[in-house]
Amino acid sequence: MRIYQMYIKNERQRRLFEMSERLANKAQERGELAEKMAELSVDMIEDFRRENFFSMTLPKTLGGEGLSLYEFLLIQERLAVGDGATALSVGWHLGIIKELAEEQIWQPEIFEKFAKEVVEKQVIVNRIASERATGSPTRGGIPETRAVRQGDHYYLSGRKTFCTMASVLDYYIVSAYVEDKDAVGSFLVKSHSPGISIEKTWDTLGMRGTGSDDVIFDQVEVDLEMLVELNNQANPRKAKGWLLHIPACYLGIAIAARNEAIQFAKSFKPNSLKTSIAEVPHIQQKIGEMDLKLMQARSFMYQIATEWDNRTPEGRQEISAELAAVKTVATNVANEVVDLAMRIAGGRGLSKENRFEQFYRDVRAGLHNPPMDDMVIQILAKRALSE
Ligand SMILES: Cc1cc2nc3c(=O)[nH]c(=O)nc-3n(C[C@H](O)[C@H](O)[C@H](O)COP(=O)(O)OP(=O)(O)OC[C@H]3O[C@@H](n4cnc5c(N)ncnc54)[C@H](O)[C@@H]3O)c2cc1C
Repeated sequence: MRIYQMYIKNERQRRLFEMSERLANKAQERGELAEKMAELSVDMIEDFRRENFFSMTLPKTLGGEGLSLYEFLLIQERLAVGDGATALSVGWHLGIIKELAEEQIWQPEIFEKFAKEVVEKQVIVNRIASERATGSPTRGGIPETRAVRQGDHYYLSGRKTFCTMASVLDYYIVSAYVEDKDAVGSFLVKSHSPGISIEKTWDTLGMRGTGSDDVIFDQVEVDLEMLVELNNQANPRKAKGWLLHIPACYLGIAIAARNEAIQFAKSFKPNSLKTSIAEVPHIQQKIGEMDLKLMQARSFMYQIATEWDNRTPEGRQEISAELAAVKTVATNVANEVVDLAMRIAGGRGLSKENRFEQFYRDVRAGLHNPPMDDMVIQILAKRALSE
């Protein structure tokens, strides 16, 4: 389909795209159950394991595919056309692995051991940082989860919210206030460690299949070297290209809504017309608007991803405002496109018999993934005023 072809530029990308398409079709089939149960199924994870999907963002030297940011977004966007919740979920894992490998944030021996497990066993990980009182970690609040050192171990206690894939993850990267360092740090913790429990709190309007439940830590014993990150001044925050998996996901949902709306417009022939509604001016207006919006948002996203891939690590810091802007543009455009698709579908769009109502609910969640719109606008304003 032309909407996909224009961003596939070589044979490697075609191969990656086709793999993603296979998985997207499976995710679409299984997505219905994930949506009902409000959690990602183990079977879905196994589909991805069989394709060695979870090691794709590791460099080839460590046994991965060495996906560029552009390639990562290409597969994520296509996955989300199949099922948005699945794409967002696995996107966290792939993105985190990409960042860890490229930024060398952890001690090399710890990361290499972990990377080996990712390649050989296709284990999956996610950062769990949000909390009720602290809210989004991007606001800079100190976590209420505490790590207290006793002898050769830390003991972690606290509750994390919005933990995507909570029940199927092998590892959590848990943020906590580390008392003896007087700093916020992150621990790599096995998900089945004693003292960890999951509370099924994820009963949301959209992105239900992500199973983003609460995870509770009650005096969880962790080895000292599993304090893998410390956010102090020696470790400043860097631009995060990998977070573009979020806009790719929501644009994928919008593409799915656009495709189904066009399909519907071509096939629906009410008895008040001699043709299908695809011939009606106001329907054509909406279809044109959907494509215009998608063109703008997608070309912006893929252009910034290409910039990221072509730049040095220092040069990448200069486009951090653009990275943030892509997220705001894409998630808002995705909401607008799905809204237009719903208007084309008419009242049928409200029925659970069609996918439109799920797109409408899922796409809304994008507004609450980082960075939030108000922060992005502020970043742009501050940069403009500082020039
Ligand atoms: C589908 C989905 C999956 C997610 N997966 C994960 C995950 O895997 N791991 C994870 O850690 N998190 C995850 N999150 C959580 C996400 O990153 C946010 O933490 C969460 O959505 C709460 O965002 P919020 O803006 O409502 O938070 P809050 O910070 O609680 O904000 C609530 C309101 O207060 C305002 N506000 C709060 N603080 C400030 C401030 N300092 N200045 C100005 N305004 C403020 C906000 O703008 C907002 O209007 C996920 C969220 C969603 C929707």
